[in-house]
Amino acid sequence: MTAIAYEYPEDLKAILEGVRMFIRREVLPRHEKHEKLLTDQRRLYLEDGRFTPEVWNLVSEVRKASAEAGFYSLCAPTEIGGGGFGLVAYFAVWEEIFRSCGMKHWLGHQMVSHWAKGPSPVLRDMTEEAKERYLPGLMSGETTMCFGLSEPGAGSDAAAIRTRAVADGDGWRLSGGKIWTTNSPHADYVVVFAVTDPERAAQRAGGISTFLVPTKSKGFVIEKVIRMWGSPGGDEAVLHFDDIRLEPHQLVGKLHRGFATAMLGVNLGRIYNSARVVGIGRWALEMALEYAKIRKAFDKPIAEYQGVTFPLAESAMQIHAAHLMSLNVAQLIDRGLPAIKELSMTKAFAVEAGVKAIDRVIQTHGAIGMTNEMFLTDAYITMRKINVADGSNEILRRQIVRQLLGGDTAL
Ligand SMILES: Cc1cc2nc3c(=O)[nH]c(=O)nc-3n(C[C@H](O)[C@H](O)[C@H](O)COP(=O)(O)OP(=O)(O)OC[C@H]3O[C@@H](n4cnc5c(N)ncnc54)[C@H](O)[C@@H]3O)c2cc1C
Repeated sequence: MTAIAYEYPEDLKAILEGVRMFIRREVLPRHEKHEKLLTDQRRLYLEDGRFTPEVWNLVSEVRKASAEAGFYSLCAPTEIGGGGFGLVAYFAVWEEIFRSCGMKHWLGHQMVSHWAKGPSPVLRDMTEEAKERYLPGLMSGETTMCFGLSEPGAGSDAAAIRTRAVADGDGWRLSGGKIWTTNSPHADYVVVFAVTDPERAAQRAGGISTFLVPTKSKGFVIEKVIRMWGSPGGDEAVLHFDDIRLEPHQLVGKLHRGFATAMLGVNLGRIYNSARVVGIGRWALEMALEYAKIRKAFDKPIAEYQGVTFPLAESAMQIHAAHLMSLNVAQLIDRGLPAIKELSMTKAFAVEAGVKAIDRVIQTHGAIGMTNEMFLTDAYITMRKINVADGSNEILRRQIVRQLLGGDTAL
């Protein structure tokens, strides 16, 4: 059954079938075998907040198996050896993964290269030498990376970053730090955005460059792993760069033009997070519908009470709308249009709908919805976090209004 008039191309349909098979073959059996480990927050992390080696090993196994099967880098650009599929495919594959795996079978969330953690358009303009040195590991899933843009003094206003790369012979020296950098506790590389021309950066006219930095570099320090909402460990960290030497091959794209790469990454994140909402939203709604049919109160299944079901209908409308908006904007961008307003509207609408949807599904389940066994609390925390990550709801509204006031009133 489909509610969407737009039909995916045949090659994408085949990929989605392959994704479902991969999940059955590589993801679910690992979760079954390691259920206690993978579902108990206390066993996932080391004292310092990182995954234990055993857990990280399972994560890496799924990544590498997916690379072997040809799924991992399917949306990375062909210039770096990826499949070159566009944003419609990126949305469709992530939506399928999140809907099929939900929050319980989270190893499945590793099977496609996340835009910030592995090969993606962010690396399209890396140097030939960097391709030779770093790509084989990244493409095979052996190594991963992270995306260092935000700093303690520069979040929504990302152009206010202070991290500097000062010219030093044929290269640079990097000093400063980053915060909230996802995957940094485990990553082999960090894509760093640094000021290379302070005057231009102060005028907001360029002056920021992108560098690919091995986390083994002398002077790279993880100050601490950040423990996010309710978790004894974390995937985000605070990074410090103490006078790291950067070689010419580490520059990604043109000098002083790195802010566009930063925005490219964040925009990919907006599609990714919209897919997360639609996939997880559908997974959760389906659970709520099943539960409402079997759970009885006052001698009737609670599905017979409109007080229970109308909120679910509300979320079904919103998730359907987020699905359509996502497919629409992905097609516009695949056609080469910037679609700034449409992407901002989609991500803001989707993530707000996502929080409400999970909240309603938790309410449908009563007390059991609050237990760790249902993974709905994980879903809620994820949805809540993405109302801030990759452009908060307020910053997205700011962009929408700017476009509208600038004359882009097409709706
Ligand atoms: C789970 C998670 C993962 C993340 N991963 C990464 C990562 O991998 N790499 C990375 O670089 N960053 C990452 N971030 C950081 C993220 O990009 C920032 O949190 C985000 O840009 C907001 O910045 P801030 O938290 O400093 O909030 P602030 O910029 O301090 O904003 C605080 C509040 O003020 C509002 N606000 C600010 N300016 C305006 C305005 N002009 N009008 C109206 N409201 C405004 C904001 O919307 C927000 O509600 C991550 C964040 C989260 C939550």
